[in-house]
Amino acid sequence: MSKIIAIANQKGGVGKTTTSVNLAACLAHLGKRVLLVDIDPQGNATSGVGIEKGDVDECVYDLLIEDLDARKVVRSTEVNNLDVIPATIQLSGAEIELVPTISREVRLKKALTPLKSHYDYIFIDCPPSLGLLTINALTASDSVVIPVQCEYYALEGLSQLLNTVRLVQKHLNTDLAIEGVLLTMLDARTNLGIQVIEEVKKYFRDKVFDTIIPRTIRLGEAPSYGKPIIVYDAKSRGAEVYIDLAKEVVANG
Ligand code: ADP
Ligand code: MG
Repeated sequence: MSKIIAIANQKGGVGKTTTSVNLAACLAHLGKRVLLVDIDPQGNATSGVGIEKGDVDECVYDLLIEDLDARKVVRSTEVNNLDVIPATIQLSGAEIELVPTISREVRLKKALTPLKSHYDYIFIDCPPSLGLLTINALTASDSVVIPVQCEYYALEGLSQLLNTVRLVQKHLNTDLAIEGVLLTMLDARTNLGIQVIEEVKKYFRDKVFDTIIPRTIRLGEAPSYGKPIIVYDAKSRGAEVYIDLAKEVVANG
């Protein structure tokens, strides 16, 4: 059975999509069967694994709102062992359309159930909000990875996110765990990065991944080619650190 992991933080630009795409691709590279589920209407994870959004007929919207069978929405990617459920801008209506629907918080969980036996890992790339799409992801997941950018105000907003996690644990998914807090976009030339690492470790202790993702040019470039870093530049520092992170996730069990 698969382990389902949400990548969530309601702040934009903290590295959720970069982590979803590259962690998923690196685990696939290590021989795991992996599904990446894009639930951000911006569809950056979709294009990040080389799917042209204009070519997508059925997306995660149809699975959440139209009850379409998830198996009909899955697409393969150029990375061996890596499939994706794409998102398009059509999904932007879902947040509101979900509100009056029956079992609105558990729709993604139900939709993914028939796929669970096909994959070792399922990653869900969340949008930058704590709305119903993110709630659906947290409800469907075994655990959550929280990317935190090594910047000023790194911890800002995290109490809201943790509060949402607690509410989901209490009412919708008692088994939801925190997989880990991931420090991203570290600029090794500044002292600020070191301070943020200390601050985050003081707060989250052993929940912080040992792997820290540096800011690199190659990681920033790869999405514009529609390629995960392991395909775009397998020998780069970015590929190396996301492989390290993938191994940590495997070791977590
Ligand atoms: P989110 O999904 O949280 O909004 P993204 O993963 O899209 O964040 O990252 C925001 C921007 O920063 C993107 O343009 C992405 O390519 C870039 N980026 C993310 N991580 C790195 C990194 N480690 N090094 C360089 N650029 C990065
Ligand atoms: Mg994103």
